[in-house]
Amino acid sequence: MTEIQPRKSATPAPTSWEYAPAPESREVVTLRERYDHYVGGEWLEPSETYTTISPSSEESLAQIGQASPEEVGLAVAAARDAFANGWSALPGAERAKYLFRIARILQERAREFAVLESLNGGKPIKESRDVDLPLAAAHFFYYAGWADKLEYAFPNRSPKPLGVAAQIIPWNFPLLMLAWKIAPALACGNTVVLKPAETTPLTALLFCDVVRQAELPPGVVNIVTGDGRTGAALVTHDDVDKIAFTGSTEVGKAIQRELAGSGKRLTLELGGKAANVIFDDAALDQAVEGIVNGIYFNQGHVCCAGSRLLVQESIYEQLIGKLKRRLSTLRVGDPLDKNTDVGAINSKLQLEKIEELVAAGKEEGAEIYQPPCTLPEKGYWFAPTVFTNVAQSYRIAQEEIFGPVLSVLTFRTPDEAVEKANNTMYGLSAGVWTEKGSRILWMAERLRAGVVWANTYNRFDPASPFGGYRESGFGREGGRHGLEPYLRFE
Ligand code: NDP
Repeated sequence: MTEIQPRKSATPAPTSWEYAPAPESREVVTLRERYDHYVGGEWLEPSETYTTISPSSEESLAQIGQASPEEVGLAVAAARDAFANGWSALPGAERAKYLFRIARILQERAREFAVLESLNGGKPIKESRDVDLPLAAAHFFYYAGWADKLEYAFPNRSPKPLGVAAQIIPWNFPLLMLAWKIAPALACGNTVVLKPAETTPLTALLFCDVVRQAELPPGVVNIVTGDGRTGAALVTHDDVDKIAFTGSTEVGKAIQRELAGSGKRLTLELGGKAANVIFDDAALDQAVEGIVNGIYFNQGHVCCAGSRLLVQESIYEQLIGKLKRRLSTLRVGDPLDKNTDVGAINSKLQLEKIEELVAAGKEEGAEIYQPPCTLPEKGYWFAPTVFTNVAQSYRIAQEEIFGPVLSVLTFRTPDEAVEKANNTMYGLSAGVWTEKGSRILWMAERLRAGVVWANTYNRFDPASPFGGYRESGFGREGGRHGLEPYLRFE
């Protein structure tokens, strides 16, 4: 009897799984040569400018205004005028109408905003498209819903707007942070002057176009651009009633010192060094996805990033093996490519800070792992990095790196996990991975963090309050809690 030969497949097996480039088109974005400040519904020509670039190519994108204290003063005056002459007296349902319009326009123009965000900030397009933009629109929708219900949110407390809010935001989620700040402020009847970060002003400036399209009364939203000097001028301006700041703990502390005794209201959303705790009964493959999302999302430029991984000793080898394997599949490169997982580092300065801390980690004795990957020659890049053999005293276990760098520590018992997780000056967020609901609750009660995610990480919803304590700041953004910092009660 002749042997039956297995039939040969007509299609040859692929030898590699390389992704073809899938670039998002830049056509949808029209850049101006120079952007002015947006004050009282008009463009105000800046006395001084600087160049904003794309961190992935170092290409110059546009000239941006560097607001002087006088220009900041004009913006505050426009905001005061709009507050006193109309906006604060509008019925809540009318204010809601504008916020709903802004939300819808953001949805309509989402692609334009997503491309611009990735171009100016370096984050992968799939993140700006699928996370930043939908969440920014959702914030406006959510707070539009509260604008005419403030009396119900705070019964018998007679909520009233504060006046002019100065808002200073960072470069890691430029449009999303703008939405977190502007939506609740406007819903409560305040007017605002917002300063985007020096390196990422473009989506805030495009937002001025949305404000015009929504026919928001002039002066309700004012945008001034510039570096820290502009931020400082805004903070110290006499006619500002409230300051909302997101950024580094260092600058947050300086602002707090500056405002002491001034009577101005303040909320601070500062840094973090979150523990992501993996117990031996966790679903390991899901946990690995959560770890990757926790630290490599947005190149680790995330205040609540899960930058300290705490692994139960019994599953250490297995988990690290899986994590390293997963790391080798991350695609680092062009932020505008739809396949990219890890984009460019936001600025040269931030890259140098990451490099300095990574060098300190090696020097202190931690073991470094980086998957083989080719980084583009131009622009600012850092490969996804894991440090094992990390002691709690190392700088990489204590300081916020704000880059794609994970420090791994181990623990034996739940008590030890809590002890190590809380061994930080920060208190913004934490993660717990276990199959036991009772253990999740036990841990959440003990972890000293404003947000604790269970069997997930970096989940956001406008209805859910976010914020920290200790050196991570104070005040909440999101949810009903997010209204309170923009109101006074009679
Ligand atoms: P900063 O705190 O300096 O920046 C945040 C915002 O504050 C920016 O708009 C900045 O302007 C502005 N600013 C700077 N100085 C002053 C001042 N004296 N008064 C008022 N406003 C000011 O953060 P960096 O961009 O320098 O980042 C440094 C580190 O901070 C990062 O490595 C990271 O560790 C942490 N960080 C934390 C963030 C978070 O979300 N918690 C966000 C960003 C950074 P400009 O951009 O022009 O400097």
